[in-house]
Amino acid sequence: MELRIDNRKKVAFPRINHYDYAIRYIVEQGIGAQFILLPPATKKTSELGSKYSPDYACAPFKHSLGSLIEALEAGAEVLVETGGLCRLDYYGALQKEIIRELGYRCDFINLAEYMGGSKKEWIRLARHINPKLNPAKLVTGAYEGVKMAEYMDEIEAMYYRNAGFEAEKGSYKKVYRQFLMEMQIAESGQEIKRGYQRAKQALEELPLKMPENPVRIGVVGEYYTIMDEHSNQFLQEKLINLGASVHRFMNITNCHFRAKETALRPRIREYAQYSMGPTTTWTINSAMDYAKQGFDGIIHVKSFGCTPEMDAIPVLQNISRDYHIPVLYLSYDLQESDTGLDTRLEAFYDMLERKKKVLR
Ligand code: SF4
Repeated sequence: MELRIDNRKKVAFPRINHYDYAIRYIVEQGIGAQFILLPPATKKTSELGSKYSPDYACAPFKHSLGSLIEALEAGAEVLVETGGLCRLDYYGALQKEIIRELGYRCDFINLAEYMGGSKKEWIRLARHINPKLNPAKLVTGAYEGVKMAEYMDEIEAMYYRNAGFEAEKGSYKKVYRQFLMEMQIAESGQEIKRGYQRAKQALEELPLKMPENPVRIGVVGEYYTIMDEHSNQFLQEKLINLGASVHRFMNITNCHFRAKETALRPRIREYAQYSMGPTTTWTINSAMDYAKQGFDGIIHVKSFGCTPEMDAIPVLQNISRDYHIPVLYLSYDLQESDTGLDTRLEAFYDMLERKKKVLR
């Protein structure tokens, strides 16, 4: 038997929801390196990140630092951190220092330094990871990886909208889990597409016991915490278990490919004249949409100490007043207890349900 040695560089990226499956795909199929796919985050991940983070850092910093340290322990040689429009843009530089001080030796790629860069610079960066890079493969791999992220967003949205009303308990989750597993191991664009089509069809065919007028809740808020289920303590899952139809506009597809932040600013002018930060435009825009569409309630999710989303709160209060739509404000740090969150969600859901009955 031939023994093959894998000489590919081992690359890691902090976890964010299930998007690491798409990143794995781009790294492995596009760049030709090996991706360190970590198991789902645990309490230990956040504790690890928290232990080595400055107190003032917001929760996404701590979660991502915890992920990076776990990736190093799993053998990562190249760490990649993203940039952003807020403090996030400085996080890579700070995490790099923390990791060095902890004694780890690795290549640290801070994408904040490449944002707005030319195609050539991105190819040079990919070549740094794999000197034998094939640019054509990179383009195809990146395209297919992005497609996977879009498919995951679509299937996830279907899941949270309807799973609370499945006729057979667990049937929705079974399909969703199978779909995610297929994305986790997909090795070609065809496999990705087939997995998506199968899941979509299966979900469409599953019988539902949807009431005529279900409780609909729109979730809005800060980019990382709202999308990463570990960071928001499985908020959407908890809501479907209570019996709600849950909608979330914020995802990679909507915010990066469909509704550019600058294009939405005129839509929210009634409530905000100026841009207030990275995700607030989407937050306000989604809240307005949910209110106009007659949703029963809105949940605002943010990380403790997130200034942009703190600024969105008074605007949401105005929307709540104008459209008579209740808003529940959740601020996440790393020491939240599940029981505390469950109690607040149950009370909110009960209130929405009662309000609905009284107004019917
Ligand atoms: S949007 Fe808020 S929570 Fe997210 S990284 Fe920026 S400051 Fe932190």
